[in-house]
Amino acid sequence: MSIVYKGIPYNNMMKDDNTNERGEEETMPTELIQVKRHTCYRCGYKWIPRSEEMPVGCPRCKSPYWNRPKKSSGNENANQ
Ligand SMILES: [Zn+2]
Repeated sequence: MSIVYKGIPYNNMMKDDNTNERGEEETMPTELIQVKRHTCYRCGYKWIPRSEEMPVGCPRCKSPYWNRPKKSSGNENANQ
């Protein structure tokens, strides 16, 4: 008979800590970030702005109406 006891049952004490393996307060290692991206209606150029402010013009075609789609109805233009 060569039963070897590990002596002081440290394992029982460790189990109390290991029950935290459930991860009650796990934090997400990856966060989902949303990036705004502007698209120029004139030339179709897409870019990511560095600031919250709306850009004055498209960095590619320099059009100030980059965020305004062309109106195909033409009724408003006819009045003017
Ligand atoms: Zn453009």
